[in-house]
Amino acid sequence: MPTLSCFLCGKPADPQKLQTVCECGRPLKFDLGLKKAQITPKDLDHNTNSLWRYAKLLPACDPVTLGEGATPLIPAHRLHTNWFIKDEGVNPTASFKARGMSLAVSMAKKLGAQALAVPSAGNAASALSAYAAAAQIPAFVFMPSDTPHAFIVECRSLGAQVTLVDGLITDCAAEIARRKQQEGWFDLSTLKEPYRVEGKKTMGYEVFEQFNQKLPDVIVYPAGGGTGLIGMAKAFDEMEQLGWIGAERPRMVAVQAAGCAPIVQAFQNGERFAEPFPNAATVASGLRVPRAIGDFLMLDAIRATHGTALTATDREMIESAKKMAARTGVFACPEGGATLAAAEKLTQQGWIKPQETVVLFNTGSGLKYLEALA
Ligand SMILES: *Cc1c(COP(=O)(O)O)cnc(C)c1O
Ligand SMILES: [Zn+2]
Repeated sequence: MPTLSCFLCGKPADPQKLQTVCECGRPLKFDLGLKKAQITPKDLDHNTNSLWRYAKLLPACDPVTLGEGATPLIPAHRLHTNWFIKDEGVNPTASFKARGMSLAVSMAKKLGAQALAVPSAGNAASALSAYAAAAQIPAFVFMPSDTPHAFIVECRSLGAQVTLVDGLITDCAAEIARRKQQEGWFDLSTLKEPYRVEGKKTMGYEVFEQFNQKLPDVIVYPAGGGTGLIGMAKAFDEMEQLGWIGAERPRMVAVQAAGCAPIVQAFQNGERFAEPFPNAATVASGLRVPRAIGDFLMLDAIRATHGTALTATDREMIESAKKMAARTGVFACPEGGATLAAAEKLTQQGWIKPQETVVLFNTGSGLKYLEALA
């Protein structure tokens, strides 16, 4: 039987009910209790061209789907031999937030949520708006008032109730927390329910399949709230339980913006939990997350895989996003640009070796960031 328990303290929670976080305030982990060879790569649903090909590895539900996942792994040999771009910009609503929201909305619907809310720097709001429309559940999205215009127009078109907040994503989250009980909203904030991370973990399974049942040496990921990094680390642990891989792991690299780098700071200071980052500012809106309840999970994954964490400035991200676009044909977002800037720095430092296989995650499309990229 699948179970839910706290990622930090281990306290169990009932998977038959709508769940938020553990009593200790930290995220809940969904666990299928996988045994060796219980599922093999052959058992996947190979006729389904979306992340639902991994349905056997996901919580059981009736999918609310727009065709998310199954994104291309694009050779980026004009950037570097053996470098690849996992292009998440081709997902519904143009970012990998679609993966998480497909699962989270499917499960919220199954477990009886009547209205859904999310604080967002942009992409999560777009994705929730789309999946809530598909599920015909009302959506309430809260974004900082300086969020790029494209996100606001998109969410309103998708029928969501949009509220702009003077402040950061953390202020948007506080506004939802204050009102959700009275309004009857179910809060889909990053890691404040157990299933967005289940959707994001499918990136790890896809990378494994796309490298013909192997994993790359290094994964470079632009980390905000951390669901993608945490999800992939969880996927690799599951793959080891299933006997698909051994103890080896790609070295996980978290890139953050120089103007908002709580995880980089905690990594450098040898801490397991991150301090809130003051005066967070960056054009990479997905990285403007000054405080994350999954901080320790990111830091554990980076350290366990002998990875690292580093920053890129806004200027470096924009320049690298354009370089990625012009050299590979992938119109990257600034967050995607950050992965290229980071990989180049790490190569210069000798931390990435010239022959190593590296996957850069372009987490969204450049189309939503025209003001920053113009
Ligand atoms: C949300 C977001 C991120 C950060 O993702 P997490 O998995 O929450 O760390 C990175 N890039 C883009 C484009 C995003 O929208
Ligand atoms: Zn707990």
